[in-house]
Amino acid sequence: MAYDPNNVFAKILRGEIPCKKVYESEYALAFHDVNPKAPVHVLVIPKAPFVSIADFSVGATPDEVTGFFRAVGETVKLLGVEEDGFRTIANTGFNGGQEVPHFHIHILAGRALGPMVMKQIV
Ligand code: AMP
Repeated sequence: MAYDPNNVFAKILRGEIPCKKVYESEYALAFHDVNPKAPVHVLVIPKAPFVSIADFSVGATPDEVTGFFRAVGETVKLLGVEEDGFRTIANTGFNGGQEVPHFHIHILAGRALGPMVMKQIV
């Protein structure tokens, strides 16, 4: 799938849409999800244009990979959720329920989040 430069996160990166920023580095931006699914719900996105984690793992430079995952760690620290715990999710593609086609990791925290998948459907 080709990267769509008009996706909402690309617009946030270009400053065309505002966001509630948590952390920013040369390689990544972290901001609050506009429709939170937990008391803490933050998204971390790489600044480089990748559709998905699969795409990112193949196409990103070593510096971009390191920079992105360090940013996830820094964001978790800033949010103060490391001790109580948190969940990271990277929805990918149609079956993964990905809505925005710019790679992002969700950080969910602030309460016990329960089982990862609510209902066994296999
Ligand atoms: P996903 O389903 O993994 O692609 O998640 C996309 C997430 O982006 C959803 O949780 C949305 O609530 C969130 N989202 C969409 N638009 C915005 C926005 N403008 N600012 C912050 N979060 C957004």
